Amino acid sequence: MTALPTRLLELIRPDVRQMAAYHVQDAHGMVKLDVMENPYHLPPQLRQQLGAVLAQVALNRYPTPDYQRLKQKIAERLGVPPGYPLILGNGSDELISLLALACAQKDADGRAARVLSPAPSFVMYAMSAQIAGLEFTGVPLQADFTLDMPAMLAAIAREQPALVYLSYPNNPTGNLFADSDIEAILQACAGRSLVVLDEAYQPFAQVSWMERLPQYPHMLVMRTVSKLGLAGIRLGYMSGHPDLLAQLEKLRPPFNVNVLTEAAANFALDHLSLFDIQAAAICQAREQLAQQIAAWPGVQVFPSAANFLLVRVADSERVFQHMLQHKVLIKNVGKMHTLLSNCLRITIGAPEENQAMLAALKAALDSLN
Ligand code: PMP
Repeated sequence: MTALPTRLLELIRPDVRQMAAYHVQDAHGMVKLDVMENPYHLPPQLRQQLGAVLAQVALNRYPTPDYQRLKQKIAERLGVPPGYPLILGNGSDELISLLALACAQKDADGRAARVLSPAPSFVMYAMSAQIAGLEFTGVPLQADFTLDMPAMLAAIAREQPALVYLSYPNNPTGNLFADSDIEAILQACAGRSLVVLDEAYQPFAQVSWMERLPQYPHMLVMRTVSKLGLAGIRLGYMSGHPDLLAQLEKLRPPFNVNVLTEAAANFALDHLSLFDIQAAAICQAREQLAQQIAAWPGVQVFPSAANFLLVRVADSERVFQHMLQHKVLIKNVGKMHTLLSNCLRITIGAPEENQAMLAALKAALDSLN
């Protein structure tokens, strides 16, 4: 095909033209342990039942845009405090984009609103800010991945951010920030900044700020069903003060959650205990793997409350490539941030996947010596 005329390309914003697209690694034929999916399928009987449910869905109709039934079920079964509304997203990624869009304004001096998060953390906080024309500040964590509180509080005071993101547990480090630190951040932000607790990995951490929503009118709690075992249906949800959610609702595309997702999520919420059992198995495997890997020389394993482990090796790129040759796909995060130098992020899989991962990792580590 002939190249598009430059003048047409120049209709696209220069900063967008310079951006790299979100990269997803090719996983074909691989033991896939790169993006924190739940390795387990629904049991065959439930899959059949779900099939029957989905077959009844009216594909010819738009979704009813208030998603009342699904929201009510989420609220009841996933611990949303009474009276607190929900907004649904096509994945929590979409909710992060909506938040950036909602806060994208300039102050009286022409300076763009700011988004702040600890660094390293989930890349979409910075990306969504950039796309919406907001400034992003990443405040480096300490070497043990706890919050650098003097630096966080100074940055909040200096930047007066519109949005502060706290990934709880944090991706890609896996740890939970201390309650007292989060509380101090909430206090510093009271009345002036929105604080988003991103609880994507909550099914594995079993702790949450959701029930504390009534204490903090400027707090939003965001979650996803992706890590629970439903990454393919793309559903995120967020709760917070009704006045805030009413504003965000105006920006949400009216039919952003499709009817198949809505029906599948409704079904899944009736079988939550199954997902809880899977999450418990994943947590147990995480602890076993952490112990096994930590016993090997030349590896550091960081504590994780999520469905992945962060490990540091002598040469993350060589280990990553070696594991790839063994058909095990993990994520090399060594170049993401200086604090992650030579770190690999490994999703916890099913037992046979974990065994393949362990064998490939051991072989890779041995090859370094
Ligand atoms: N938040 C965090 C911390 C994540 O790690 C991810 C995905 N990796 C998301 C949000 C987005 O999840 P989803 O769009 O699948 O709901």
